[in-house]
Amino acid sequence: MIESRKRLEKAGFHPRVTARPLKELEQESISQLRKKIHRPSRRTFRERQRRKLDIADVSTTGRRVRSGRLRSNAARNAMSSSGPLTRGPWYLTERLEKIASEAVNKTLSPEADTNGRREQLTMESLMNHSQMGANMLNHVFAHGHKVVMNLAMTSSKMFKLVTENANQWDFSSSSYKAKSPSTVFVAMLPTQYTHEIKDVLSKYSFPVNSDKWVAMRQKLESQGHRDGQKMRAIGAEHEFFQKARRFRRQCLRSNGPYWVTEDTEIDPRTTRSAVEWWHDNKEAINIMGSLKALKTMWSANQFEGSGNKQYQMPLSIAMDSLQKLMTEMHTVSTYIEVVHLHDVPLVDRRMLAAMMRGMPHVVRVGVYRCPLIHFGDVIPILDLIHEINTGRREKEMPAIKGFDFYPNFEDGMPYQHQNAATYGLTWGPLAMDLGQRGFYGILLKAVMKAKAMDLGQLFEKDGALMDWLAKVPNVPLGPYCFLDALYRYLEVDDEDPDRDEKRTQATYDLLKPIRIAVETNLGQDWPVYYTKQMGRKYFCSSCGYETFRELFPSHAKYLPRIRRTCCACILQRDLDDEKDHCKAWKLNLLDIVCPLWGLVHLEFNKEAPLYGNGAGLIRLKSTEAERDPHLAPEVQELTLIRDNKCPSDSLVGLPTLESIAKGTIIPSLWKEAVALGFRYDLQRRGILELRHRYSRQWNGVPAFPPTREDGGAPDHEDELQPTDEDGDLSFFDHRKALVVANSMRLSGW
Ligand SMILES: [Zn+2]
Repeated sequence: MIESRKRLEKAGFHPRVTARPLKELEQESISQLRKKIHRPSRRTFRERQRRKLDIADVSTTGRRVRSGRLRSNAARNAMSSSGPLTRGPWYLTERLEKIASEAVNKTLSPEADTNGRREQLTMESLMNHSQMGANMLNHVFAHGHKVVMNLAMTSSKMFKLVTENANQWDFSSSSYKAKSPSTVFVAMLPTQYTHEIKDVLSKYSFPVNSDKWVAMRQKLESQGHRDGQKMRAIGAEHEFFQKARRFRRQCLRSNGPYWVTEDTEIDPRTTRSAVEWWHDNKEAINIMGSLKALKTMWSANQFEGSGNKQYQMPLSIAMDSLQKLMTEMHTVSTYIEVVHLHDVPLVDRRMLAAMMRGMPHVVRVGVYRCPLIHFGDVIPILDLIHEINTGRREKEMPAIKGFDFYPNFEDGMPYQHQNAATYGLTWGPLAMDLGQRGFYGILLKAVMKAKAMDLGQLFEKDGALMDWLAKVPNVPLGPYCFLDALYRYLEVDDEDPDRDEKRTQATYDLLKPIRIAVETNLGQDWPVYYTKQMGRKYFCSSCGYETFRELFPSHAKYLPRIRRTCCACILQRDLDDEKDHCKAWKLNLLDIVCPLWGLVHLEFNKEAPLYGNGAGLIRLKSTEAERDPHLAPEVQELTLIRDNKCPSDSLVGLPTLESIAKGTIIPSLWKEAVALGFRYDLQRRGILELRHRYSRQWNGVPAFPPTREDGGAPDHEDELQPTDEDGDLSFFDHRKALVVANSMRLSGW
């Protein structure tokens, strides 16, 4: 261990990992951990938020704006004086538009034309040229979000030019925020606040959902006017309430609230129409029947009360917007070459696959913070790119050259709570033995596939994934050390007389961040472990790869060879199975529009090959998936095949983009999914209302929130994280990462 550390100190990281010195990175990561370890109390958090939103509410333009992500110096100064500037990556508030326009005028005056600025002006004037600007930006966007952002941040004017020169699809209003001749398509969900949406109530004074209201909404929506979307949002909340009132009457419960009696059956007095409307959903019917009397409105309406908060798009509306997005993608698929998706809800790997397969000219894809696309999805997505590229090569079409990826990151609860923790990979705690081995297992497979395909961006220093990897709490700089060792291993030349020693050293360093987290007695690695035990391999009966036993659960050594499953496969499945933030409901909606997928969800994708030089680390050993039942020799003699697949990551049997846009079957299924989304929206609001009305024990009725793991706040700011039952045996959070950083420093590792 000490030798490994000394080598790293002397040589530094592999230039493809980072150019920054080890010590500097270490100090930075430790100071960030220290800052993050303390969460504000719930009250402080709430107060800060209220202050932020109030500032936003009275900003200089008189418009409500939000905390932006833009952080240039000019922007920071401007922000400290009067509130935030953007609603998302490329979504300027009117205030920033104004700052940018003023900057444009200033740069254009000759006295401001100093040397440095003249250079910038040339670049800017080129960008300003309608055709040329768009062309230049196509190239910039092709290098990923961070590169575009770096260019945009050079000046306010450049920021404006960049935002105007790409086709920007606003997911919330299903319309273009900016349309240009560019071949770049950016879809995003801008952040919105309830106050700005409520504006329409004073603008159009008809009763909500009256005939006049609906007529006006339809007219505005057909014109692509943003007020149309606002009226839809408010109207939907009213509809949820009206439905809840109806079902409160139709789902009577004679025994009181359902969590008191623990009787989960439907009360016989419930009307038939209610049971039918809910498709026999017992939990939802019980929730409706347990509601207290509803008079003029309920607390579950997100526009209720005077406070300003972040608007949350209902699932039914989001599902509808997803179809509109995909229909538009189909329309522009004849010329779009670069696609970026930012924060787009309800896009999972299946929808992404439909998009990518249906856009034959796309050569660069960026997926950033889409909540249903997690780290494990990198594997099926790489296989998908391989499959698409194989088809394109046959047709002599350009291949997909780059994939920029920022998986969903789980920050945990925003305020102090006994369960609050940032695990990054998952919302809830997961076992260290699985999490750590699986995390690096997925990373190893992903690097080997991306390298074999010569795919750009994913593992480049400027790529979004490197930022994400650095953010996941872990052994200090674990992913950096792992990648450094991996690249060194892959570069060892077969003719090199020291090749064996170099490979052994690299293997040791590669396994180091895994072993530090899950093994003991690492100080005694020399000589037995290093010379004899290291490098032992197991076969995975799920993916068919053979790789280091360190990437398998500890108990794998007790299992027969044919039954072992690597942690990368198990983690992929566990990430799919997370239930927080209504993830399971959201996937159910998508299941409806992928009707064949359920039958083939365990099929193997067309695997991207692994990089040849890494055969000593991992290799595909078997693609056989079915065992001949007539052969039954001793267990130990059975051939190793992959008949035990665990992640349902198949991307076969999916609808095409075209069938979503204009087929006959999928669009009708889509309506069914929107209807299910509506029922989930109502069920969720019922839960929130019960949480509000039964917050504590009263009159013999126990409080409602403790009856649910999420504290009665599904997909809500107050959603609880599950309790960490395993304590020391759980995956890293910030606190644990800091502890291991300190102990490593003390032991000189
Ligand atoms: Zn596996």
